[in-house]
Amino acid sequence: MERQVGARPTADSRRPSTRSGAELLAELIHGSGSTVALTGAGISVPSGIPDFRTPGEGIWSDVDPFEVASIDAFRRDPKRFWDFYRPRFGMLGDKLPNPAHDALATLEAEGVLDAVITQNIDRLHRAAGTRELVEVHGSIATSSCITCGHSYDLDDVEGLFDSRGIAVCDVCPGLVKPDVVLFGELLPVAAIERARELASAADLMICVGSSLEVFPAAGLPELTLAHGGEIALVTIGSTPYDRDDAVKLDGDVAVELTAVLAALG
Ligand code: ZN
Repeated sequence: MERQVGARPTADSRRPSTRSGAELLAELIHGSGSTVALTGAGISVPSGIPDFRTPGEGIWSDVDPFEVASIDAFRRDPKRFWDFYRPRFGMLGDKLPNPAHDALATLEAEGVLDAVITQNIDRLHRAAGTRELVEVHGSIATSSCITCGHSYDLDDVEGLFDSRGIAVCDVCPGLVKPDVVLFGELLPVAAIERARELASAADLMICVGSSLEVFPAAGLPELTLAHGGEIALVTIGSTPYDRDDAVKLDGDVAVELTAVLAALG
């Protein structure tokens, strides 16, 4: 795969003393014909949703997610699945978007961001006002009956639990499952295809709060680079793309994206 290494800023120009990272990213956004954002758990940390990779803080820290939050577990022991998932559903349902979500919605409204691709299931991008949103792991916004397909809004799921603690459809006797991609489930084909299209056409991909280690997010910046586009990283911690980025902002995502908005003027 050929990359246009020569077209990238040199190490010296990447962090010039006269311009902040936020100003440099604002310049890249100005110069880009098509910009997309790719977001992961880190963008929702300021909303009070811990990144599960943070030791001792993540929602997975006390259980093996492959055991309780997998499609096999849902089918085998739906009560155990919901014992684990129901409180997390409630916890996520109360969260609000933070200034990082708001900044991406503003960039879209101003016509300089084409879409947001997210690994998150927390629906905070939608709540912030993002319209062109690709949720590659699904969303807690709805749950569906696995038998008849009837769809329920998040607020209505709590009313479906029976005395066993299992969410049951009120149209048929089927089980109701969150419309999120569980471990062991296939990723939604249409969303993945749309994400790949956007990544392949982007002049600039802004990766926010993602370690870029989990498929499919891990492979999307590669598509942008292969097309001759640039990668900007707004994330704490290292990523596999740290040598390919045009700029990296490694502070708090809400602070950094607010600064980018200010630099855009
Ligand atoms: Zn049903």
